[in-house]
Amino acid sequence: MKLCSLFMLVSLCRGETPSGRADTFPIEPDLPCAVANDQPRTGYHVDLTPEGERRASAVYHRSIIITAHDHCFHADDFKAQASAAVTVRTIKPIVDGHYRQGGIRYPIETPVAGWRERGVHALQILRQHAQQSNGRIRLVLSAADIESVKKQGQLGIIMSFEGGRALAGDLANLAMYHEMGLREMQLYWAVPSPLKDEDGSLSLFGQDVIREMNRLRLVVDISHMPEKAWRQALALARAPVVVSHCGAAAISGRTNRGTDDLRDDTIRAIASQGGVMCVHFYEGYIPARHGPVSTVRDLVDHIDHFRAVAGIDHIGLGTDYFPEKGWKWVAGAETIEGMKNVVREMVYRGYTDAEIEKVLGRNLLRVYRQVWGK
Ligand SMILES: [Zn+2]
Repeated sequence: MKLCSLFMLVSLCRGETPSGRADTFPIEPDLPCAVANDQPRTGYHVDLTPEGERRASAVYHRSIIITAHDHCFHADDFKAQASAAVTVRTIKPIVDGHYRQGGIRYPIETPVAGWRERGVHALQILRQHAQQSNGRIRLVLSAADIESVKKQGQLGIIMSFEGGRALAGDLANLAMYHEMGLREMQLYWAVPSPLKDEDGSLSLFGQDVIREMNRLRLVVDISHMPEKAWRQALALARAPVVVSHCGAAAISGRTNRGTDDLRDDTIRAIASQGGVMCVHFYEGYIPARHGPVSTVRDLVDHIDHFRAVAGIDHIGLGTDYFPEKGWKWVAGAETIEGMKNVVREMVYRGYTDAEIEKVLGRNLLRVYRQVWGK
């Protein structure tokens, strides 16, 4: 560990990509997300009537609220989750292609050794947060756990990975991670991995990973997949999938970005298998259409579109907050507290309480129950 931090220091000073085993790179965030996030707060306001405000607050606090994509697991991030009254966060403690330190991103571009150890360590860190929380933080292993977390006012976390490098090319590691409490995995991130062929399609190993995830009852997250790959994944999957963070191509105007910007045919294909698509909160996915910067209004345009194409039963929220400077999330939802504003905007647009509850968490809960079983 001494050597590692010394090595880190040297490489940071040089501003270079460090080389070495993946398990020597940091995992635990040294900054909470709300501190690392240095974007200027531009303000956001919904003109709700007092009755609308009352309704928004009531439905928010009654609902099971789940974010399907999150990277914030500093001790203060759990305080932020509590203060935002968010029931469950699907936390992805490691990402295939980088790590963060001091609010800065460092790439891990080439496949290096030590990914299995990195994966194990990542899950151990999250488990420790739960173990040392006096019952405040709870590892979610079943759909019933989510209901119970809500009832008891706990803070739920679902353990996931962003990308499959942690498998280290060995299918047996999936069962090992499942045993440790992993309940979801995102297959792809923006770098090469044993799950991908060079043209971006699923490798034979990647296809086996989906079969094994179905057998073990792990949720498959098809985010960041090009068209060929998501089509392969949907054809193979024996259970509903999630896209943990995405936008609608018809709203963003970008039609060639796979599951990042979902075209209407993609939305229908995922919905027809019972899947849920979770709207991104990062402005890069949610271009500004109502003013100079992206706001919660732009975000809810994507929800409107998903509803128009596939109905309300296939929409979720995938905030994707992470502890890194220089990024912008939609105004009004710069931090997890902003999930309330999404509800206020939905109330403003006439969504019913039942519809809002589905988007906030009921839809994801349905998929989790279906995939994880009783
Ligand atoms: Zn992410």
